[in-house]
Amino acid sequence: MTHHRLLPDRTGHFGPFGGTFVPETVMAALADLEHAWARARRDPAFRHRLRSLLEEYAGRPTPLYFARRLSAALGGRARIYLKREDLLHTGAHKINNALGQALLAVRMGKSRLIAETGAGQHGVATATAAALFGLACEVFMGEEDMRRQELNVVRMRLLGARVTPVRSGTKTLKDACNEAIRNWVTTVRTTHYCIGSVVGPHPYPQLVRDFQSVIGQEARRQIRQAAGRLPDLLIACVGGGSNAIGLFHAFARDRRVRMIGVEAGGTGLRPGHHAATLVKGRPGVLHGAKSLLLQDRFGQVLSTKSIAAGLDYPGVGPEHAYYQLRGRAEYVAVGDRQALAACELLARTEGILPALEPAHALAYLARIAPRLKRGSVVILGLSGRGDKDVHTMAQHLTRAQGRDGTAARRV
Ligand SMILES: *Cc1c(COP(=O)(O)O)cnc(C)c1O
Repeated sequence: MTHHRLLPDRTGHFGPFGGTFVPETVMAALADLEHAWARARRDPAFRHRLRSLLEEYAGRPTPLYFARRLSAALGGRARIYLKREDLLHTGAHKINNALGQALLAVRMGKSRLIAETGAGQHGVATATAAALFGLACEVFMGEEDMRRQELNVVRMRLLGARVTPVRSGTKTLKDACNEAIRNWVTTVRTTHYCIGSVVGPHPYPQLVRDFQSVIGQEARRQIRQAAGRLPDLLIACVGGGSNAIGLFHAFARDRRVRMIGVEAGGTGLRPGHHAATLVKGRPGVLHGAKSLLLQDRFGQVLSTKSIAAGLDYPGVGPEHAYYQLRGRAEYVAVGDRQALAACELLARTEGILPALEPAHALAYLARIAPRLKRGSVVILGLSGRGDKDVHTMAQHLTRAQGRDGTAARRV
């Protein structure tokens, strides 16, 4: 079988998934992007520039932290390490990709970035990179999401970006993606479309993976130092799949390293109540690529639901669909309630408040930790910090709290 590390093939496919399903007008721009990246990734000057930015501006390398009290709280069989992407500038792994793509856009002579955003995290990362390079920036965001994520709308505007409300469809992320592609069709000469996850037409799934792979490359070095060997298990949350692929990719050839991707189970695995695309989806085309997709029996895209806005998307990166097909990684779902409990667990055992997205991965780890082999080494991808979710957590906390104001101890 083709080596996982060498994929996608020249047509942008990961097995049956991936490819390019876009309007004719952007085909040339995608080909330009592919060629520009093929040259840039081999150019020592580009690599050096990106590396300095990641180190001096974004805060890489991020620590690999041994979570002693968490490990003990989960039964003490597994030694759990956290890859701390939450400590990066702007609070999540998304800056790795935004800086990479912005640098590439400058190299291609573009003067403007556009992006789609759901929760606003990718919009903030793109607006940040645009400000840093003096590029114009426009972010498309569903009107409903703008209402729910007002703080990030303000952040983007403060950073100088224009935030354009999208009023079509369900006024959420998938509609914002459609609008961004539509805008790109008419502006490709000056504009780079900065996609925020390992989704979209070729070469984006590869491009974004390459920019996020730094997570796993660092983790591989760090765990060898810390534990003296490779990990037994990697676990990360999957929305579009960029932080998970970023962690997994450097270990793809190490067959003994087990990988688990955790999706949003929302309020239950019934249609419309979750965003567990790999668990419940079927093959289909969305936003320029073939992958698994949550759809009804007529092929209409289903609405999704998750307490974690960053996981609330009906599609998933084609490389994950392929990993699942080949059995290289396992994919599972965890619901809203367990994710909330996991936030509290990490906050109270380690003094780290995670974002709701990686809390899904932690919740699943908490479930399986007592059954892992004694002495197992586990790396959990902590993709972002919880500040953005405090409001959501507060609403649930008040409900769970007793009169004296102390939250339930049990998680
Ligand atoms: C956006 C986001 C995610 C989900 O995106 P992926 O592409 O699946 O990584 C996960 N965690 C955080 C903190 C995010 O902001």
